[in-house]
Amino acid sequence: DPRLQGISEAIRVVPHFPKPGIMFQDITTLLLDHKAFKDTVDIFVDRYRDMDISVVAGVEARGFMFGPAIALAIGAKFVPLRKPRKLPGKVISEAYELEYGTDCLEMHVGAVERGERAIVIDDLVATGGTLSAAIRLLERSEAEVVECACVIGLREVKGQCRLNGKPLYILVEPR
Ligand code: 5GP
Repeated sequence: DPRLQGISEAIRVVPHFPKPGIMFQDITTLLLDHKAFKDTVDIFVDRYRDMDISVVAGVEARGFMFGPAIALAIGAKFVPLRKPRKLPGKVISEAYELEYGTDCLEMHVGAVERGERAIVIDDLVATGGTLSAAIRLLERSEAEVVECACVIGLREVKGQCRLNGKPLYILVEPR
């Protein structure tokens, strides 16, 4: 797809952020580039529009920057998966491992119904721990996770087992 090169080039790489040794993939520069941003959303929309998806679940915070546009275009609802203690209603929680310690994602009870077909969106997948927690939240609510989708992913993580066997769709690799 000729659009992928422009998407890749619109992502800024920031060395040593947020700490020494990390090459941070900064998608805010992609959001500033109308063509690259639209191409990104369009590719996901083309992929999911005829797959009978009724739920787009976005991971806080950068999954919120792509998920709603995709949800609106394919006629699905948007479900935010948030960091702890942000959602005001009754929630279910799933912990996941970070390099040091653990974090947690929460989803409102009742946001999805049994049997709904869902995709999960985030900006970047590294270990897959975050997406796995997102999958568990949806599956506990008896939704069917059809696929996880990220703008950026390492080639090695494609189809990785930490996503509980769920397919992973990624657009570009880190630069
Ligand atoms: P994982 O759980 O797959 O190891 O890490 C993925 C999560 O970390 C995503 O929610 C993603 O937003 C965040 N993340 C880790 N490194 C980067 C990075 O270099 N750039 C961006 N934009 N997000 C990152």
